[in-house]
Amino acid sequence: SDVSSTATRILTELKRECATPLPLLQQVAKTMSDDMRAGLGLKPGLPMIPTYVENLPTGNEKGLFYALDLGGTNFRVMRVQLGGKDERVIDTEFDQVSIPQDLMSATSQELFDFIASGLAEFVSKEDGGFHISPGRKREIGFTFSFPVKQTSIDSGILIKWTKGFAVSGTAGRDVVACLNEAMERQGIDMRVSALVNDAVGTLAGAEYWDSDVVAAVILGTGTNACYVEKISAIPKLQGHASSSGKMIISTEWGAFSNSLPSTEFDREMDAATINPGEQIFEKTISGLYLGDIVRRVLLKMTEEGGLFGRFVPQKLSTPFILGTPDLCAMQQDYSGDLHAVGSLLYDILGAESNLSERKTVLEVCETIVRRGGRLAGAGIVGILQKMEEDDRGLIFGNGNRSVVAIDGGLYENYPQYRTYLQDSVKELLGSEKSNNVVIEHTKDGSSIGAALLAASNSIYQ
Ligand code: ADP
Repeated sequence: SDVSSTATRILTELKRECATPLPLLQQVAKTMSDDMRAGLGLKPGLPMIPTYVENLPTGNEKGLFYALDLGGTNFRVMRVQLGGKDERVIDTEFDQVSIPQDLMSATSQELFDFIASGLAEFVSKEDGGFHISPGRKREIGFTFSFPVKQTSIDSGILIKWTKGFAVSGTAGRDVVACLNEAMERQGIDMRVSALVNDAVGTLAGAEYWDSDVVAAVILGTGTNACYVEKISAIPKLQGHASSSGKMIISTEWGAFSNSLPSTEFDREMDAATINPGEQIFEKTISGLYLGDIVRRVLLKMTEEGGLFGRFVPQKLSTPFILGTPDLCAMQQDYSGDLHAVGSLLYDILGAESNLSERKTVLEVCETIVRRGGRLAGAGIVGILQKMEEDDRGLIFGNGNRSVVAIDGGLYENYPQYRTYLQDSVKELLGSEKSNNVVIEHTKDGSSIGAALLAASNSIYQ
């Protein structure tokens, strides 16, 4: 029993529209470079947010530092004892709490009180292995992964909450001040010395171990990328005095939208989100969305092409019921009868399937995930090409090694996505330039990166 000719036609059409041949990838990389450059000059392009991170960790950082990480479903705290060039990271301790659902739509004070009390409890358990220098406050690197307008390394105004947060009273306020006030209410006397997002934290954390790191990318629920830019190449920071002459720029590349392949399924999903028309690159390549694009394709195949028999499984009409981890689980089924795919389709969607239907589902998953991974790769090449164009030889010069650090649940857990991304980078660069570029997975580097930035931006130096 083969799938209907209508379902087959929908699949063929989907593959054609989602194809990412080399010329298209080249166009995306080129447009990414152009939009980066435009955004640095306040022309219409990417946001290209200055982070005020001008000094990356050197390895000489010493002392006890804390990190706080708020960016998604979990709130994490960490302490690290740094021992300088020789001893490096002497000891670390982590703790993690999930954010109660009701706090995500509470008041600003309630959310920050929750964070500060978690921090206070963690600090109270500091023991013998950790030492603060006499006379110093404990300093914090605060990873806050929401759009923030910064004017210094240790302050930033929340533009808006994203990723399901709807906390009242924070937008337009300095989130470091919000945290300071909550810490005061909790009776803890600490100092936020660096405010960063997860991409910046990842870059700093990776750079600490490997000075060839030039950029960092987050591929999780959402996506972002940052890189090291010369101050002289940032027209919108004209007149800014800098000792290092460099600054990390947060590209906010999720907002990219030029020259991307788009299907009716992408457009319908976009229209149903809370931010229609925004974050198009993010909606094409990141974890929150890939599953729902696949669901929409399967729904059309079912309604118009009788996939899964005569009755449309009700659950298939529920937005976001099919997650990217489900696509990933199905794509790991290499059995002859695709038994695991069948079980997942039944458990998640209530759909009974035969072998050819399961094969069709896998082809849809592959088409959407392949497009996402390859476009993410093109974005990375766009960043590298921008850096190379401004500074010949910086990236692809003879014998150079340029590392891109990647973190996030999508990249970490989805082997096919990872392979598509890496293949796309290789295809775009060609074998010679590829030899200069290393794509590296760094896990949980963002917290330690934030602590390191608190150290390199310490007030006691
Ligand atoms: P966040 O981006 O929310 O800070 P993570 O980096 O941990 O958190 O990413 C979580 C995202 O990673 C999930 O939303 C999901 O899309 C994706 N993900 C998690 N596990 C898997 C998996 N097994 N396969 C594919 N994607 C996964």
